[in-house]
Amino acid sequence: MLSTMQDVPLLISRILAHGSTIHGDSQVTTWTGEAEPHRRSFAEIGVRAARLAHALRDALGVQQDERVATLMWNNSEHVEAYFAIPSMGAVLHTLNLRLPAEQLVFIVNHAADRVVLVNGTLLPLLAPLLPHLPTVEHVVVVGVGDRSALEGLDVRVHEYEELLEGRPGHYDWPELDERQAAAMCYTSGTTGEPKGVVYSHRSVYLHSMQVNMTESMGLTDHDTSLIVVPQFHVNAWGLPHATFMTGINMLMPDRFLQPAPLAEMIEREKPTHAAAVPTIWQGLLAEVTANPRDLTSMKHVTIGGAACPPSLMEAYDKLGVRLCHAWGMTETSPLGTMAHPPAGLTAEEEWPYRITQGRFPAGVEARLIGPAGDVLPWDGESAGELEVRGNWIAAAYYGGASGEPLRPEDKFSADGWLKTGDVGVISADGFLTLTDRAKDVIKSGGEWISSVELENALMAHPEVAEAAVVAVPDEKWGERPLATVVLKEGATADFAGLRAFLAQSIAKWQLPERWTIVETVPKTSVGKFDKKVIRKQYADGDLDVTTLA
Ligand code: ADP
Repeated sequence: MLSTMQDVPLLISRILAHGSTIHGDSQVTTWTGEAEPHRRSFAEIGVRAARLAHALRDALGVQQDERVATLMWNNSEHVEAYFAIPSMGAVLHTLNLRLPAEQLVFIVNHAADRVVLVNGTLLPLLAPLLPHLPTVEHVVVVGVGDRSALEGLDVRVHEYEELLEGRPGHYDWPELDERQAAAMCYTSGTTGEPKGVVYSHRSVYLHSMQVNMTESMGLTDHDTSLIVVPQFHVNAWGLPHATFMTGINMLMPDRFLQPAPLAEMIEREKPTHAAAVPTIWQGLLAEVTANPRDLTSMKHVTIGGAACPPSLMEAYDKLGVRLCHAWGMTETSPLGTMAHPPAGLTAEEEWPYRITQGRFPAGVEARLIGPAGDVLPWDGESAGELEVRGNWIAAAYYGGASGEPLRPEDKFSADGWLKTGDVGVISADGFLTLTDRAKDVIKSGGEWISSVELENALMAHPEVAEAAVVAVPDEKWGERPLATVVLKEGATADFAGLRAFLAQSIAKWQLPERWTIVETVPKTSVGKFDKKVIRKQYADGDLDVTTLA
């Protein structure tokens, strides 16, 4: 028997209509580096999104399903693009501005983007690529920045504000199929070639509702969220869409992502929430340690994308800011878990929960698969590869011109679950603890050593600023850990001392023999430790390694 309920397609245009009317007074504040930031209301964004859609359709001829790319910082115009492009039936393709040129070229060609919206300050990045992007016909330049890099190139150039001017502030958004493509993001390629994940209107809608639940980010129109996580990194973790559902104000850093302006933004604009990867919070911590600032407006902070060292959480606790750990992937929209401890616990009892990756929400089913392909129990001890499924989890990758979605066997199980490539354990009450990426696990004499556990323990040392641990080949054991350490300013290297410190919490056989001091840990385009690069540096003999007896 079928239900008697209405079935209204879950469309991004509905989120836009809701936010720009019911929450029309909420604001997007964009940092400009000048005395006053730029402020635009959700109502104005609604009008401008309609104008943008008219411009794309009538002036640039954008049709349903065509890909419109953005190469932009986090700012209010990028929010306009987030709503206008999917709502009109086209596909928003956010480009990661930190990718190497050849990867950007690969991605734009693979997606066959026809239009690129680009911040003027990023033209020096885009212009040299354009001769290699045959599908790109139009470049729309947004905001400040020197335009001269585009001179002489075979592409039609438009000014964003001129394009919008005089166009109607209302658009009859089409009634699309909710399963239609709304947006796409390519994985940042930490492990292998970038792969395109295509989100549907439905998946974005459902994901946004989950982001807004109290067991996730739980924000309202009383809040302001400092969205540091780039809009090109998994839709800024779903925040721009979620904000239009509940009226959360957005504080956007544009290109001012360095620790000092971030600290200033927080002190002046007093966001109640923020979201970013651990690297950003490490940098901000060093900044406010040197130049104290009041960060306490931030009631909580969503930290994820890479393991959050417990020592970082402790340091922010002392500053009156609570970091809440989350796990996710490009393939999971990204919200997979969040670490809110169960009710009724003391701070001390909460701690073991806070340092996990967190609990799965109702929309994400999880299972752990053991080495023999068996499903493992949730006992907090049995370690296996995490697989997930749900309505905002990818079922395949974009196949490009072939039109056929790609379902590589190492990424999708025969029964349709996403293989995350992450290894960990799940407790009986559903808290996930990740020990490693399958590719980063150190396999020493048949036993597994967790690189993340060693890193967390090292970063708890008062003289260590950052530490990354990778597997390196070893004649006797197959693989052994190599510790690469960034010292805090003024500290001196004492490997034996560091190893003794580790021995307080780590089993003796897991302690690294090989040590090296580096100036910085190499990072990926979204600010994660780039272990591929470290392994290569070691293999090429580029690191000055000390081996302890
Ligand atoms: P890429 O795979 O290119 O790095 P993603 O942003 O999709 O791009 O990365 C997803 C991966 O990031 C996860 O599979 C996991 O390995 C890692 N990750 C994300 N959040 C966490 C977390 N809280 N703790 C540990 N690892 C995390």
